[in-house]
Amino acid sequence: MTAEVFAIEDALASYDPVMGLEVHVELNTKSKMFCGCPTEFGAPPNTQTCPVCLGLPGALPVVNARAVESAIKIGLALNCEIAQWCRFARKNYFYPDMPKNFQTSQYDEPIAFNGWTEVVVDGETYRIEIERAHMEEDTGKSTHVGGATGRIHGASHSLVDYNRAGIPLIEIVTKTIEVPPAKAAAVARAYVSMLRDLLLALDVSDVRMDQGSLRCDANVSLKPKGSSVLGTRTETKNVNSFRSVERAVTYEITRQAAVLASGGKVVQETRHWHEDTGITTSGREKSDAEDYRYFPEPDLVPVAPSREWVEELRATLPEAPSTRRVRLQEEWGFTDLEMRDVVNGGALELVVGTVELGVTPAAAKKWWLGELARAANESGQALGELGVGAAEVAEVQKLVDTGALNDKLARQVFDGLVKGEGTPAQIIEARGLALVSDDSALLEAIDRAIAANPAVVEKVNSGKPAAAGALIGAVMKDMRGQADAAKVRELLNAKLGI
Ligand code: ADP
Ligand code: MG
Ligand code: ZN
Repeated sequence: MTAEVFAIEDALASYDPVMGLEVHVELNTKSKMFCGCPTEFGAPPNTQTCPVCLGLPGALPVVNARAVESAIKIGLALNCEIAQWCRFARKNYFYPDMPKNFQTSQYDEPIAFNGWTEVVVDGETYRIEIERAHMEEDTGKSTHVGGATGRIHGASHSLVDYNRAGIPLIEIVTKTIEVPPAKAAAVARAYVSMLRDLLLALDVSDVRMDQGSLRCDANVSLKPKGSSVLGTRTETKNVNSFRSVERAVTYEITRQAAVLASGGKVVQETRHWHEDTGITTSGREKSDAEDYRYFPEPDLVPVAPSREWVEELRATLPEAPSTRRVRLQEEWGFTDLEMRDVVNGGALELVVGTVELGVTPAAAKKWWLGELARAANESGQALGELGVGAAEVAEVQKLVDTGALNDKLARQVFDGLVKGEGTPAQIIEARGLALVSDDSALLEAIDRAIAANPAVVEKVNSGKPAAAGALIGAVMKDMRGQADAAKVRELLNAKLGI
């Protein structure tokens, strides 16, 4: 097989990508899906198990009501229909970290189906259709020891931890996603990132991609430009960061394009994502008709959520992110372009937090998208990682409002905050940034400016008050910028009688 990969531009010149995203969310319930075992992350291996989640003969599962509630909330937040009646199903396959030899899942009767959601990329909104969101349980975790890669290949032995076996999972599956080809990878990333925000707002999961409580499998296929026939897809498993989702989709597009262009066929298979090298490698072949011998779970009663319960849960949903954006834009009086800058700059939540502390939306936007965005850009950090929060921005702005700082000095305070020099008060003290509000010091500087610029004074006296600007400049310079320009103008005007 060819190892050659196309450049992304070349790939997209000949082929249109089609994606399908499967996201697994571990719920944050206190107990497991079908037993009372705790779900804490990081407990010593095999200390959170019981006969039910170990699949011992005769053990009987019971559905976790809170997990069903979370599933319904997720379904509603994704604009899904909620099943009147649905069942669990056994998905039969052997895997050493799955003690029951089947996974209790849902098959043709998911709890939520036919939904949609939206993501924003570069200011454009893209609609994503949701096929279904179903309930299932997580597997245990295998650790392969003694090899170089941590994979089973080359390992001397394997360990298995069943603490995770039976933790409630929701699998959210999109319908096929077709967006402008150049946006595909970014849309995939934006979708997972949007889901994370949504799940966080619903308070149903920790959504920690690094701990595996949010995992994404990315299905990608290509079709020749203009064709309406779907190509063969690959499924890249367990991509574990937003950035990796974008990179993995891009890589698969470039790889499949090279395969197809050389007359080859894309193999329908799962693929592994390699974070370090940025490539995917072949996993196992997987046909559409994988025979899992699904059948309805005989040990569990069907789930039939009453319409009253569903409506009760709908009423508890937080505002949808897109609705919220529209509302905030109106409240803040921002133009479309201003709002787009805030959203794309990753500053939305920071501006919200700053405005909540009494700062005007315009001032909050000015600092976050100006001084702080520049600092973040320089250090290659996200805005939220700068170590400066809404509270600091509000504190500095308050000092500007009371005339203790001007914008120029405030920028220096932010510089100090980013560099970890302490609180705004400490930085002002250490860097000597306070504005001189003492009238006598200002009047002395004004006298010096008048004495040094007789020609300017003459101009003003001969009926050209605008010339006084040069004197204000001289005073500001004398004060090394640490004067309130409006105050200087006021005092100067009084002195010159204008
Ligand atoms: P599987 O059992 O293989 O995981 P699922 O139904 O759970 O199948 O998910 C398949 C995902 O792949 C869905 O998101 C679906 O929209 C998507 N998909 C199906 N066919 C294609 C294709 N030809 N190209 C890209 N994505 C596809
Ligand atoms: Mg699947
Ligand atoms: Zn258990």
